[in-house]
Amino acid sequence: MPSWLVHAISHSRWPCTTQSVTATPRAPNGGLYPPAMYNGGMFIDQVNIHVKSGKGGDGMVHFRREKFVPLGGPDGGDGGRGGNVIFEVKATLNTLSAFRQNEKFAADPGKNGGGSEKTGRGGKDLIIYIPPGTVIYDAETGALLGDLTTAGQQLLVCKGGRGGLGNQHYVTSRNQAPRMAERGEPHEEKKLRLELKLIADIGIIGLPNAGKSTLLAALTNAKPKIGDYPFTTLEPNLGVANIDADTTVVMADIPGLIEGAAEGAGLGHDFLRHIQRTRVLIHMVDGLGEDPLADFSQINSELALFDPNLAKKPQIVVLNKIDQPDVQERLKTIKASFKKKKIELFTASAMARTNTRDILIAAHRKLADLPAEELEEALPVYKPPVDPNQFEVQQEESNKWRVTGVGIERSAKMTYWEHDGSLRRFQKLMERLGVDKALHEAGVQEGDTVYIGDFELEWKE
Ligand code: GDP
Ligand code: MG
Repeated sequence: MPSWLVHAISHSRWPCTTQSVTATPRAPNGGLYPPAMYNGGMFIDQVNIHVKSGKGGDGMVHFRREKFVPLGGPDGGDGGRGGNVIFEVKATLNTLSAFRQNEKFAADPGKNGGGSEKTGRGGKDLIIYIPPGTVIYDAETGALLGDLTTAGQQLLVCKGGRGGLGNQHYVTSRNQAPRMAERGEPHEEKKLRLELKLIADIGIIGLPNAGKSTLLAALTNAKPKIGDYPFTTLEPNLGVANIDADTTVVMADIPGLIEGAAEGAGLGHDFLRHIQRTRVLIHMVDGLGEDPLADFSQINSELALFDPNLAKKPQIVVLNKIDQPDVQERLKTIKASFKKKKIELFTASAMARTNTRDILIAAHRKLADLPAEELEEALPVYKPPVDPNQFEVQQEESNKWRVTGVGIERSAKMTYWEHDGSLRRFQKLMERLGVDKALHEAGVQEGDTVYIGDFELEWKE
């Protein structure tokens, strides 16, 4: 078990020199935190469809007919342009289910050219409406064709064929009566895969069993699995909550980051992208937990480990399960411990639905308070963080060591060192990431000092 103890806090910095060891932590199941595996279910709606633009109309071979003139000049008109196939985002849509009934789409062809230089009528463009957040792939090559997020945004996927030229265009000095015209350009067709990543505005985070799924079920139309053992939720569930008659928000119940991965659940980049698009978090803290403040601190450290932006999102912190007498008894103490950290603490019973509506309203108000530019910033194309689990152990002096790594240093900053429970959780995190092992292998000794960012820790066997 924990082979070292965090001891003191200081702000000293040591110059880095001498030997260096690099270790990449492995998930306890032996694999690295695996890539995205999650697709299907409520999280991603996916359909395959077939689209076809209109072929261009043919040009016409035709000659002017005039009384008493055996053969007039050529006057064959051009063919009309074929219709394009265009996707357009419509804000009121929120599923791809319409595509399940109808999966073939064709735009009209252009009409052929006529006599008397009449150009054929162009085929109408076919506009296919999709919900915001739809990603369009070529199903055969896998190529990404577009990621459409804002209302009115359009993507042309199949261009209509150009109309063929009529014989009037083929007159030359040697051939005054051309019997040739051009055929319309053929249509284009594509097999496409559409993926809708429902974008949750509000994410519910917390340790397993805190009551995330229960809260989601209380506030939205979702029916997530609710279990009384950890790891029930290994994939996010989504639900839509009504704020008032014409305002809704999408909420996601987000399972623990590290414990999910540790269970081999495969919380990969798709999953992270999803949380990154949430703008407000509801942080559920289990009132029956041994140390609610430590739980809270641990989740924030884990968020920071993955991505600094996650840790910066506004949170509504909720102490859950206040229907339990045990929780009522400790309520004052727990409230005081959060107050000391200047954290506003809501209390609720997700199960009895006590105060749940207030929490929704508070979260929605936070959402509405976010400045407009942040709203846009919340929707960039997700870039995976640069291997946040990576760290390095360096010996600085015979009994001084430094652990460096973006994730681990961020994580350390989120920890309440002076709170024992919180400190122990951080030690566990170190173990999980393999920092302990790396230090050990590098030769750390009892009583040595280990630096992580601005923090100074003492190694205990
Ligand atoms: P999650 O892992 O955070 O999604 O937690 P769940 O929503 O699955 O809940 C875990 C367990 O706690 C389940 O047995 C729930 O019935 C129970 N639970 C959730 N909220 C409350 C609550 O407010 N009061 C009580 N007494 N139990 C709750
Ligand atoms: Mg759950």
